[in-house]
Amino acid sequence: MAEDLEMPVTLKPGELLFDAPVRRRKPPRHLADLTTLERRELVQEMGLPAFRADQVSRQYFTRLVRDSGEWTDVPAAQREQLAEALTPSMMSLVREVTCDNGTTRKTLWRLHDGVLVESVLMRYPERVTMCVSSQVGCGMNCPFCATGQSGLTRNLSTAEIVDQVVAGAAELSRGDVPGGVGRVSNVVFMGMGEPLANYDAVMRAVRRLTEPSPSGLGMSARGITVSTVGLVPRIRQLATEGIPVTLAVSLHAPDDELRDTLVPINNRWNVSEVLDAAWEYARATNRRVSIEYALIKDINDQAWRADLLAKRLRGKPVHVNLIPLNPTPGSKWTASRPEDEREFVRRLESAGIAVTVRDTRGREIDGACGQLAAAEQ
Ligand code: SAH
Repeated sequence: MAEDLEMPVTLKPGELLFDAPVRRRKPPRHLADLTTLERRELVQEMGLPAFRADQVSRQYFTRLVRDSGEWTDVPAAQREQLAEALTPSMMSLVREVTCDNGTTRKTLWRLHDGVLVESVLMRYPERVTMCVSSQVGCGMNCPFCATGQSGLTRNLSTAEIVDQVVAGAAELSRGDVPGGVGRVSNVVFMGMGEPLANYDAVMRAVRRLTEPSPSGLGMSARGITVSTVGLVPRIRQLATEGIPVTLAVSLHAPDDELRDTLVPINNRWNVSEVLDAAWEYARATNRRVSIEYALIKDINDQAWRADLLAKRLRGKPVHVNLIPLNPTPGSKWTASRPEDEREFVRRLESAGIAVTVRDTRGREIDGACGQLAAAEQ
C-alpha cells in the first residue's frame, strides 16, 4: 500500500506544502483496497468472526447495498462498526447529468479531500460500459485534452477507482437506468488520469473488478480496457500480470515529429518503442491492441498520415479507434471534416486494418475527458 501514501498535491502560487495538510490526508481505507484475507484479518482484529468480512464484501460487491441498515445477515449491533471499518463513504455525488434518454450518465464526485473526479455510464443494447478516472487531474499534458490542462493533483486509491464502478452497478441493479435492471459489462480507464502512472492502485482495482464474489465484482478481464499514453516499462509490466485486459494506446500520430507535441511523453518513449511494447503485450496476452487516434482537423488527419499509420500497423493484431476530436473550451483545434475522416478510414481499411469511428456519446454533457470537472472548477 506504500504507493497510496505518495500523494502529490497541487499547490497554489505562494502556498507552502505544510499549508495543505487536509488535502494530503490519505483516502479512507475500504474493503476494496484489501484482499479477502486482509479483510478477514481486519475483522478478527476488531474481535469479530472472520466471516463477517465476507458478508460485508458480498453486500458491497454482489448485493450492491451501501446502507448497512439493510445488511440483514449481520447482527444489528455490529453493522455500524463493520461499515465504519470496511465501507466508509469514498465519495459524494456532486452532480449527475444525463443524455441519450438517460442511457448516458455522467457523474461528478467529490472525494474525501474535496477534489473532483468524474465517471460515465453508457448503456448500449448489448452492453454497459463504465468509463472511470484513475487520477485527479493528469500529468501527461496532452494539449487537446481537458484533464491535461489542470496538471496532476493526486493518484486515486484502489477503492476510489472501484467505487466508481460499484456506484454505476448499483444504479443499474436498482433499475435506475432506462432499459431495466442490468449489470456493468465493460470498464474503460478512459476518464481522468493516466492509469499506468498509478499502476499499483489500478492493478489492484482490476483485480477487485475481476475476482469473483465475495472478493470482487466478478467481471471478465476481457471487458476491461486500460488506456495509456504509452508508458513503455509499465506496458511491459502489464504484460506479465496474467490478467488479459485490453490495452489501448493513445497514439494520435504515426510520426514522432507530431506525436512529440500531441502526446508529450513521446519525447521519452517514441512511436516505435510504444508500438513494440504494444505488440509484445499482444503476444503475451493473445489480445488485440486498440490504437486510439483522435482526428484533429488539419493537424493529424492528412491522407499521408493515414498511409503512414497503415504502414506501421499493417499485419499486426490491432484495432484502430478513431475519435472525432471533442474540442475543449478555448482550444483552437476541432474535429476533422467528414470527407477527411472518411478518407482516413478508407486508407486504413484498404490496408486491411480493422477500424471503427468512436461514437460520440455524451458530447452534449461535456462527455470528453475532464470537461465536467473543468467546468465545475
Ligand atoms: N491517459 C489515458 C486515458 C485517458 S483519456 C490515455 O491517454 O490513454 C482516454 C482517451 O481520450 C485517450 O485516447 C485520449 O487521448 C482521448 N481524449 C482526450 N481528450 C480528448 C478530446 N478532447 N477529444 C477526443 N479524444 C480525447
